[in-house]
Amino acid sequence: EASDAWRTVDRYFTSTLVGEDSALVVARDSGDKTTMPNAEVAANQGAFLELLAQIAGARRVLEFGTLAGYSTIWLARAVGEQGHVITLELEPQNAAVAEANFHVAGVSHRIETIVGPATESAERLIHDGAEPFDFVFIDADKPNNPAYLAAALKLTRSGAVIVIDNVVRNGAVADAASADPRVQGVRAVAKDIAAHPGLDGTAIQTVGEKGWDGLIIARRR
Ligand code: SAM
Repeated sequence: EASDAWRTVDRYFTSTLVGEDSALVVARDSGDKTTMPNAEVAANQGAFLELLAQIAGARRVLEFGTLAGYSTIWLARAVGEQGHVITLELEPQNAAVAEANFHVAGVSHRIETIVGPATESAERLIHDGAEPFDFVFIDADKPNNPAYLAAALKLTRSGAVIVIDNVVRNGAVADAASADPRVQGVRAVAKDIAAHPGLDGTAIQTVGEKGWDGLIIARRR
């Protein structure tokens, strides 16, 4: 749960620094039409993703977990008019809500939404020889994080950036004995990144209106 102070500071920074326009507000509000209301990133986190993708010079972005497309819109803006975002979503209902939001935001021509289990959609992209991605945002079902990382490694170029959301699990991530498959999904992906000779990575904890959480950022050498 977010403390009042965390919320107040998030509101201050968001209102001062972050341009959340009406299309993004529409996308955020449409979360209640999805299967997972309030699961989108905060506005300042969306802006952070946009900046990271821009710093990485990303033209092609792959996202695991669309929901209402809130983060997707930030990423689609990051890649610019010539860029492309592929976003993978299990639930047809969420994908439909997201596509309506992409239309409102004027970025639907930059985004391809693929409906189905993301492991299967990613396998198809690998099989079809998809052009390499520059930036990957992993934000779907947490037990599958290791599978998503493995797919991302087959779908990215050297220098690509991989961001994994919701890695703190209320602190349970530090508990090796946790029986929560989401915790084990985060622990396993952290171990995979650490063990991979071609990846550099770190994790950062965050507080804010979404509570206490954090993300892993990794980069391919
Ligand atoms: N990235 C979104 C944002 O910040 O606006 C939030 C994504 S939400 C945390 C997680 C999404 O992953 C949900 O829409 C859920 O339906 C989807 N999801 C869950 N399991 C999935 C799977 N196996 N394959 C693809 N998507 C899945």
